[in-house]
Amino acid sequence: MDTMKAVVFRGVNDIRVEEVARPRPRAGEAVIRITATTICGTDVHIVKGEYPVRAGLILGHEPVGVIHELGEGLEGEYQIGQRVIAGAITPCGQCFYCLNGAHSQCHGALGGWRFGNTIHGAWAEYLLVPDARANLAVVPDGLTDEQVLMLPDIASTGISGAESGNVRLGDSVAVFAQGPIGLCATLGAKLRGAGTIIAVDPIAERREMARRFGASVAIDPTAVDVVHTIRGLTDGRGVDVAIEALGRQETFAAALGSIRPGGTLSSLGVYSGKLTAPYEAIHAGLGDQRIVTTLCPGGKERMRRLISMVEHGRIDLTPLVTHHYSLDQLPAAFELFSRQADGVMKVAIYPSPIGLMAAPSCELAAIET
Ligand SMILES: [Zn+2]
Ligand SMILES: [Zn+2]
Repeated sequence: MDTMKAVVFRGVNDIRVEEVARPRPRAGEAVIRITATTICGTDVHIVKGEYPVRAGLILGHEPVGVIHELGEGLEGEYQIGQRVIAGAITPCGQCFYCLNGAHSQCHGALGGWRFGNTIHGAWAEYLLVPDARANLAVVPDGLTDEQVLMLPDIASTGISGAESGNVRLGDSVAVFAQGPIGLCATLGAKLRGAGTIIAVDPIAERREMARRFGASVAIDPTAVDVVHTIRGLTDGRGVDVAIEALGRQETFAAALGSIRPGGTLSSLGVYSGKLTAPYEAIHAGLGDQRIVTTLCPGGKERMRRLISMVEHGRIDLTPLVTHHYSLDQLPAAFELFSRQADGVMKVAIYPSPIGLMAAPSCELAAIET
């Protein structure tokens, strides 16, 4: 049996580089050779044991690769050797939920999220892509792996915060937390034509990055009363749309408290445990507010649209990639990422040494870790 290298979840705080069986595609499935992948905050939740997955699972849900093998029925649709990405969410496109437009909830709650959750993920040399026809998006030759690496999850999720919030021309928008997802939410608000965009984050470098991604104001929640400050910036009313991009009770409450009556809270965070809506912030339940939640939109059409925006220079997410590692170094990269050490935003993982050597601004210090 052919084998491959992969990073496997063995238990809480235990991920290991192992030699495992290489996947083979059945009808409608494809196997891609991973050329680049990354680590997500959600993976940190998993490894810490805050979101349960089975032991023995290969983690990772952000694949960039090359088609290696196609299952039956995909001839004419794809070719071996084509460069592709697949979304973190891989909907089937045919079930009750998909046909009702709730692709991320394919087959039931969170069901569209399969990579590194219910099936093996992208922290490997090869990845089996289910329902390939609905999920493989071709990457144009002119784009590098790193230019599309944020599309499967970070960009799709972050920008969806502004889309789900239905940000309109001239809206005031507050974005809570400016990690990679929050920065993409800030970018999404700008793309949708927001007027004032208020970024909230306690880390100075992230506030600075937020300005590069479109924020007009960046505030430090440890230095000021956020809700009061946001009211002051919006004629005392509160913002039209607040986007929560962290997943904590405090930021959820602050985001809800900062929207005007009739405003929208668009929530992207992954919350663990109990979540409550403060009574005052929802005006006894009569404030005409909307609370919408979004799980990363996936599927190949979503990916095609995001690729198109990169291709035409509308978005550039490469500043988010701050560190580069090989697959062998993934556990070390994970350690750095989960501690948010060394100014890390996102790490690029290259299973092949050639990919790593070709990576832009490849820092030797990072590689030697
Ligand atoms: Zn993710
Ligand atoms: Zn489905």
